[in-house]
Amino acid sequence: MLQEQEAHAAELERTFIAIKPDGVQRGLIAEVISRFERKGFKLVAIKIVVPSKDFAQKHYHDLKERPFFNGLCDFLSSGPVVAMVWEGEGVIRYGRKLIGATDPQKSEPGTIRGDLAVIVGRNIIHGSDGPETAKDEIALWFKPEELVKYTSNAEKWIYGN
Ligand code: UDP
Ligand code: MG
Repeated sequence: MLQEQEAHAAELERTFIAIKPDGVQRGLIAEVISRFERKGFKLVAIKIVVPSKDFAQKHYHDLKERPFFNGLCDFLSSGPVVAMVWEGEGVIRYGRKLIGATDPQKSEPGTIRGDLAVIVGRNIIHGSDGPETAKDEIALWFKPEELVKYTSNAEKWIYGN
C-alpha cells in the first residue's frame, strides 16, 4: 500500500504558483492558498521573497520583447511575492483554470482573477502555463531540497487509493 502510494505520488505533476505583490498587499494569500487546497492539490513548497529586478526578468524571460515587460518586472520586484509549488493530477492545467484568463475583465466569475482582480497589470497571481515552464520556474524559484515529499492523509480520499 505504501509502495503504491509512493508510486502514485511520483507520477504526480507539479506547478509553480506565485501570489504577486498586489495579492500579498491586498491580504489575499490565504484566499489563494485555500482555493488550491480545497480543490485537493498539495502544497509542497512555499516561501515569501522580494525578487530582484534581475530575477523578475529571468522569471518572465519569454515576454522580454513585449512592451509591458519592463513595467511587469518592476512590479514583480516591488514587494513580497509568495512563491509556491503545488502538486496533483492535472495541477498545471487545472491551476490555470482556477486562476482564470490573464485579463481579469475576461476571467470567468469563480476564478481567482475573475473574483479578485480588475486589470491585467494587477492580476494578483502567476501560474505556470505548461509542463516545461513549470519545470523551469520551479527550478528558478526553489532549490530541490526546498520541495517537501510527504503523503497527505487526504490523498486516499481525493484519489481513491
Ligand atoms: N501582462 C500585462 N499586460 C498585458 C499582458 C500581460 O501587464 O497586456 C502581465 C500580466 O500581469 C500577466 C503577466 O504579464 O499575468 C504575464 O503575461 P502572460 O501572458 O504570461 O499571462 P499569464 O500567464 O500570467 O496569464
Ligand atoms: Mg504566463
